[in-house]
Amino acid sequence: MYPRKFEDLTEAFRHLPGVGAKTAERYAFAAMSWDKQTQENFIQAVSGMKDMKLCKTCGNIADDDLCVYCKASDRNPKIICVVQNAKDIQAIENTGSFKGLYHVLNGGINTQKGILPEDLNIESLMERINEDTEEVILATDPTVEGETTALYLTRLLDRKTKVSRLAYGISVGSHLDYTDTLTLTKAFEGRTQK
Ligand SMILES: [Zn+2]
Repeated sequence: MYPRKFEDLTEAFRHLPGVGAKTAERYAFAAMSWDKQTQENFIQAVSGMKDMKLCKTCGNIADDDLCVYCKASDRNPKIICVVQNAKDIQAIENTGSFKGLYHVLNGGINTQKGILPEDLNIESLMERINEDTEEVILATDPTVEGETTALYLTRLLDRKTKVSRLAYGISVGSHLDYTDTLTLTKAFEGRTQK
């Protein structure tokens, strides 16, 4: 039997995806072996989690009311790239070929799982679209969920603005954040108007 504090630490690690009892135990032992400064940094980083927010404009993770992209002066607000999850943004940023703004849906339509359009961050997207909007790029995953969502948004945005969809090519069935940078760059360049 382990001391209570060690058990608590192990239990905390078990909340991470793919971490079972054995791995959590290994992580807890590893954390205990760190020097005091590393432990303090870790504690501070975890503690900062509760102060993080969602951007009021796009739904991305943020330190303040607006995320780094919505705050930036060198991004083109006339082009909005719609993604399912905040982690997809980094994948797109890695391509270096997009300088517009983002909108995070926080998931995709999946009727089997009971995820409907009203569960997603779609209303705020519609509020952002105005006469200045030049293009909405649908960068949802190349999965059934992502395609369903893209189709729904295409219909919703019809005649409001130009809508395009990434051309994924061979990566169908994958997730955007697992798509390699070159494929994603090509998907952006080859995007087709809906
Ligand atoms: Zn934002």
